[in-house]
Amino acid sequence: MYVVVRCPRCGSLMLAKRVHKTRTCPQCSYRTTLRGLKVLRRTDSSRKALTLIQALKEKDSRQKETSI
Ligand SMILES: [Zn+2]
Repeated sequence: MYVVVRCPRCGSLMLAKRVHKTRTCPQCSYRTTLRGLKVLRRTDSSRKALTLIQALKEKDSRQKETSI
């Protein structure tokens, strides 16, 4: 099981395996505990998870564009 979570420090999306307790953000190197983080998406395959992250990122950038 994979989960998509958002880094509480820099807000970037990352993929984590459910069995892991902590995850280090690839963007800001912040080490975060998965427990207590809001799970945005969950999936069984890492490939699907990457697609989900991509879609969420696009959604994020669209929201930023419209808010300006
Ligand atoms: Zn981060």
